[in-house]
Amino acid sequence: MSKTQFELTDDVMYVKGVGPARAKLLAKLNIATKYDLLTHYPRAYENHSSLTKISELVEGETALVVGRVYDVNSRRARNLTIINATLEDETGELQLTWFNQDYLLQKLRRGVRVLVIGKIKIDSWSNELAMNVQRVTFLDEGEEPELGIMPIYPSTAAITQNVLRTAIKNLLTSMPPLTEILPQKILDEHELISLDRAARTIHFPKSYAELDTARRRLAFDELFMIQCGLMLIKRQTQDERLGIAHAANGRLVNAVLNDLPFMLTDDQRRVFLEVSADMESKVPMRRLIQGDVGSGKTVVALLALVKAVEGGWQGAFMAPTEILAAQHFEKFSKLLDGLGIRVGLLSAKVTRTQKMRDEVYEKISAHEFDIVIGTHALLQEGVKFAKLGLVVTDEQHRFGVAQRSTLEKKSSTLPDMLVMTATPIPRTMTLTIYGDLDVSLIKHLPPGRKPIKTSVKTFRSRKKVYEFVHEEIAAGRQAYVVCPLIERSESETLADIEPAEEVFDMLSGGIFADVPCALIHGKLKPREKDDIMERFRDGEIKLLVATTVIEVGVDVPNATVMVVEHAERFGLAQLHQLRGRVGRGSKKSYCILLADMKSDAKIRLQAMETTSDGFKLAEQDLKLRGPGQFFGEAQHGLPDLKIADVFRDVDILIQARDAAQEFIDDDANLTYFANLRTNIAMTYGDKFNQITEA
Ligand code: ADP
Ligand code: MG
Repeated sequence: MSKTQFELTDDVMYVKGVGPARAKLLAKLNIATKYDLLTHYPRAYENHSSLTKISELVEGETALVVGRVYDVNSRRARNLTIINATLEDETGELQLTWFNQDYLLQKLRRGVRVLVIGKIKIDSWSNELAMNVQRVTFLDEGEEPELGIMPIYPSTAAITQNVLRTAIKNLLTSMPPLTEILPQKILDEHELISLDRAARTIHFPKSYAELDTARRRLAFDELFMIQCGLMLIKRQTQDERLGIAHAANGRLVNAVLNDLPFMLTDDQRRVFLEVSADMESKVPMRRLIQGDVGSGKTVVALLALVKAVEGGWQGAFMAPTEILAAQHFEKFSKLLDGLGIRVGLLSAKVTRTQKMRDEVYEKISAHEFDIVIGTHALLQEGVKFAKLGLVVTDEQHRFGVAQRSTLEKKSSTLPDMLVMTATPIPRTMTLTIYGDLDVSLIKHLPPGRKPIKTSVKTFRSRKKVYEFVHEEIAAGRQAYVVCPLIERSESETLADIEPAEEVFDMLSGGIFADVPCALIHGKLKPREKDDIMERFRDGEIKLLVATTVIEVGVDVPNATVMVVEHAERFGLAQLHQLRGRVGRGSKKSYCILLADMKSDAKIRLQAMETTSDGFKLAEQDLKLRGPGQFFGEAQHGLPDLKIADVFRDVDILIQARDAAQEFIDDDANLTYFANLRTNIAMTYGDKFNQITEA
């Protein structure tokens, strides 16, 4: 007799109620295995604890009503299909309305029993009780509707909530108890429920209190694994035998300091001292420099690189884009050539042919370059440093942990590592993303910066705003126009927003017809983007219509105006980052935020007028908009969290970190951890492996 063993790795199609056809649809939700289904957590819950009789419905409240349909009709109005039906129970009648749900017509027959959910209103024409139905469930004769807390899953149009709920219910019924993965001690100390109970409760909680304990347990696991992973990395990299003790003579560093056209600020000096101390120590440096746009991080990085060269090592500087790499290359060369420091550039552009590439590679491996600046081209196979002593990565949030360590592996010793970011990341997040790094902060900008005049305007002033931009361009300056979208969106909520393409057509065909304009966005090829940026930098293009691709540190001092269309669509931290593109020269600069004031964005945006502190803005952003929106697009390099939320779960994060610290400090646990890793690779391992095997 063969007994079928339940494995979380089984194909999801073997779950009762799924089958091959639905498995295909589930694949679109990235659900391939039973495990994927188990961890397809609800995105929300609806409180369906009690039914309301029609006679007791209250206007404005969301209600659940069971009744019989006795009248159905549908009509088309413009591109909408509207279905109307009447629902009755023993106490009265309710008018139901659906929009664009033609598929319901087949089932919505006179006499069927349904459970409907939606907000109650009084119809302004008929004065009757009415509901725009959010969800309908068809009930068999005599079937009791299911009440309780209803999970709402992330889904697509092809898969109904009911199908997902049933599949998950069946999965849980057939699933043997999950093996506990955390030591009892941690469970006790942090008052966590068992993994098995949490995994089941998260889908079908009986109460909100129960839901909370389940969520807390699962979030704890995720954060704990990440913390352990980061701490293990840190442990490995803190091995003194592998590190480099850089020399401390200061000859070249002092020469560069003398040649700089300015004095370091106190912050820069302090941070460079921290970096120096790390470099001179045998423990490999793992340090993050956080500082606002323009706070002068690059100079500190330059000094660190020079310090590495001073002791006979090579340094690598990794920039997020070609154009930035080229910019840094020019600046560094200018400053360093006189000192006999050989600076090389490695980007896709300078290595277009195999021959050119080999030449650069050769110079890197023969130690004919002291400092090599490049993009992620630095990560390619063929790049071998003769004596790599320091790696600097700029704008860290564009690189994942994985890339961070690839570059490290390019050497037999562990080079020191410095990462720089202008993203004002709150401390809790720093812990999550950069838990393996020490942090240095540059708080104050160098003196003498002209503040960028920022103003919030409504679309009524749009024409005036662009006339002003035109005047600036006529006076020899350049301008950016930033738009939230590239092209028209199907989504209703975005329907009012003119995308970059249309704004470009409108401007370049209208008021700026006499001005060289260009459009740049993320869908262009990197080569095309670089080309446009280069022509903008050279002053050939005067007006650049862009999406947020320009967010990262390009330096065009002659650009003095930025207009942000639909600024209400952006977070403050992101606007601040964008605004940092202007105000880089000696001329007065402007940032004009065009906003739709129907939205309640005005107060939020006004913070931009009064504050130029990125960290303050970021904090405010978090408070006002919540975590999910903080970073906008998924470019933050955060590990992919299924349930934990690094903002909301700060307390859990801190507990998980403490637990991880204690856990990792005990060598006995490392074996446990190694086993854990193979045993439950399925349960949490992905995430952990993502980090540790990077
Ligand atoms: P970040 O990399 O932090 O965005 P940068 O290092 O590019 O900032 O510096 C921005 C600008 O400020 C550069 O033009 C740089 O030359 C200048 N700068 C840096 N440090 C100082 C300083 N201490 N005093 C005056 N100007 C400075
Ligand atoms: Mg920078």
